[in-house]
Amino acid sequence: MSNDSQHFEISKHKDYLYVIKENISIVHPVYRNDPLNMYLVLGSHSALLLDTGCGLYPLKPIVDDLISGRTLFILNTHTHWDHILGNEEFGEVYVHKNEAKIVSKPYDLSFLIDSPCEIVKKYKEKNFSIPPAKIIKKIKDGHEFDLGEISVKVIHTPGHSPGSICLLTSRGELFTSDVAYYGDTFLPKRNKFPQVLKSLLKLIEICEKQKNLELYPSHQKYPCDKTLLTELYNGIKNIENIWDTKKPFDFFNAWQIDGEKFRYYISRM
Ligand SMILES: [Zn+2]
Repeated sequence: MSNDSQHFEISKHKDYLYVIKENISIVHPVYRNDPLNMYLVLGSHSALLLDTGCGLYPLKPIVDDLISGRTLFILNTHTHWDHILGNEEFGEVYVHKNEAKIVSKPYDLSFLIDSPCEIVKKYKEKNFSIPPAKIIKKIKDGHEFDLGEISVKVIHTPGHSPGSICLLTSRGELFTSDVAYYGDTFLPKRNKFPQVLKSLLKLIEICEKQKNLELYPSHQKYPCDKTLLTELYNGIKNIENIWDTKKPFDFFNAWQIDGEKFRYYISRM
């Protein structure tokens, strides 16, 4: 990856939906959930960008080009590094209130200091500390963004992180963020599994009420159907049966468990 234009892969998925993909394994091989999918939804007068990526190359000029003068809302689905490091480029960012504090401070990337990847030099130039957006706006469950002819509703789905959100559009897309995707799945401590399962159930119920929703996860394959949610729900429920197969994975301070459809990293913190 030698320049900006090669770094992001941009595709027009629908008239009103762009996908901006970014590979995250280029910062450290432990991150295997390539690509990170950032979604840009275009309404008649406004646009919504979900997440801002790794902050390695300028993203704003690309987005500005695609939105052709529309008002832009920037939203973080949660505040893990790969979703927020481009925030600084944008003046104002919306995030769930539970994670507003984290994303208001410079982000400490010192865990990448020993990465074997060349590209982390870009973070080193900033002393592994990435500045936040100037203005952080808090949102909660039920918040709606009116983009003109398309509205997008926030669904609070804690578990992967306390302020993780998913988004449902009036056109039938369900953005599932890092709450559900096919890939390495990061979970909180075991005692928080009931919260994770409750959030997945909330999404499953939405899919039952509204048939034919398309699921757009923040990593790897899209669109998916609701099978993703039931497979993940059943997989997490089954973890207790295979708990003895856990191995420590120190980089994430987690237990690693290889399930049938997903590999799980369960926080030890
Ligand atoms: Zn992620």
